[in-house]
Formats: sequence, C-alpha cells, structure tokens
Amino acid sequence: MITVKDYEGSVKPDWCPACGNFAQLSAIKGSLTELGVSPSNAVVVSGIGCSSNLPEFIRAYGFHGIHGRSLPVASAIKWANPKLTVIAYGGDGDGFFEGTQHFFHTAKRNVDITYIVSDNQVFGLTTGQASPTAQLGYVSKSTPEGNIEKPINPLTFALAAGATFVARGFSGDPKHLQDLVKKGIQHKGFSFIDVLSPCVTFNKTNTYDFFRKRVYRYESPDTGDFMAAYKKCEEWGDRIPIGLLYESIQETYEEKDPVYRKGPIIESPYRGITPQDLQEFL
Ligand code: SF4
Repeated sequence: MITVKDYEGSVKPDWCPACGNFAQLSAIKGSLTELGVSPSNAVVVSGIGCSSNLPEFIRAYGFHGIHGRSLPVASAIKWANPKLTVIAYGGDGDGFFEGTQHFFHTAKRNVDITYIVSDNQVFGLTTGQASPTAQLGYVSKSTPEGNIEKPINPLTFALAAGATFVARGFSGDPKHLQDLVKKGIQHKGFSFIDVLSPCVTFNKTNTYDFFRKRVYRYESPDTGDFMAAYKKCEEWGDRIPIGLLYESIQETYEEKDPVYRKGPIIESPYRGITPQDLQEFL
C-alpha cells in the first residue's frame, strides 16, 4: 500500500516559512497517495522559479527544466510512456510569461497531463517583480509607480485555448486543494489548476488574509456548460470562486495521433537502428 511517506524526498523544501507552495506539495503527495500511484509511476516536471524547485522535494521521477518549458517536456514524457502519471508544475511567471505559448498549445492539444500553477502574482525567485497576474497598481521593484498593465486571467485563457479541465484552488484551503488535484489527475486530458498561493515575503497585497476575505468554494451545477464556466472564471474582486469550474471529456492528443495510437513509444522496436548506432548517438 502506498503511503505519503513513500513520497517523502530526502531534500527538505527551502521555501520561506508559510509560503503557499507547501500546501501544493502536500496536495500533490496526498493525491498521488490516495490514488494509489506508486512513486515509480509518477513524474513531476517544472520550469524555473521558487515553486519550480518542487521536483527536488518529492520522491518520484522529476525534471527541473528551463523557464516556461515544463509543458513540452511533460507532454513528451506522457507520449513516450502513457502509463506514467505526469504533473507539470511551476509559477505564474514561469507559466504565463515565458511559458505562454506552451500553455496555450498544450491546452489546445488536450495532452493527458495535469498542470498546477502556483499563482502568487509575483516573480518570487527574483525578489518580487510584477508577474503577468500582478494586480493593476501593484508596487514592486519593477513597477515602482504601480503596475500599469491589466493582469491576465489564466482561467479564461485556458478555456479559450481548449483546456478540458479548469479549476482554481487556494493554498489556504489545503483539503479542498488536494481534492482538486486528485480530480485533475483523474481527468483524462489536459487539467489546469491555478492555485492562489501567497508569496509571504514579497507580495504584501495578495496575502492569506486578502484571499480569506474573498475566496469562496463554488460547486458548478453543470461543469460542462462552457459559457457559464467562462462567466464564473471572470468573477474576481470582492468574491473569488475556487473549485472545479469546467470539465469536458474529449479525445486526447495521444488517442488521436496515428503513431501514439499504435502503442507507447517505449515499447516500439528500434526500427533499423542497431545497438552500435544507438551507442554512437548517445
Ligand atoms: Fe515562497 Fe515568495 Fe519565499 Fe519564493 S520568495 S519561497 S514564492 S514566499
């Protein structure tokens, strides 16, 4: 039987105490455990940023890549071995700035992976500059007179791109978050979970208190209603909904692709490639 201890990494997280990332690490470990996924069948892929250090803190396969590129790597891993549970993870700077095009295209392709974003509305690793989700007027080192750009809405972006599972969680509600992560992993297709995750060191505006006053658990009466989901995803201000906002079952990229349909790449023979060729290539 798999237990959370099986996922305990030997490297302890170096995040600031109370950083929202801790709740996400627990939610990922707890979900994989509840679903009975063995660490040898789980892969966590990240980009760059405070949150992207997560693969080091979990005892599973991991790939700590480059800025914004977790999704193509995660897709390739899934395509090579669809038996693996693949989670891409990173921050809002990583995913919605450097990684925007990969976010869009992976959602559009409906690759069967789960993408969790630790959305703290700043670039934490580089000491708190405004990120694409930073609020209008947010004062930081990069925006000393206040952010003049409107923040992007990652949820409506994901919906417009074609994501088949769109949810929002909050690090201050870890039980609810774990349930969302579990549902995201179970969903067949691209699951996107944006997690409101306070950066306690640099973002003094969007704090736990800020979100606790606004966040409420929302249960959609019909998660398949795209227009209703879009409208709900636009709700932001005094009230911010968290929960599963949209889900649709559609064919995945792997199911449609003529090569992947024939079976996992890891089980394909090396057509015409000799062991010597392979050695030379390596
Ligand atoms: Fe977390 Fe912010 Fe500290 Fe980075 S700087 S570890 S995001 S609290």
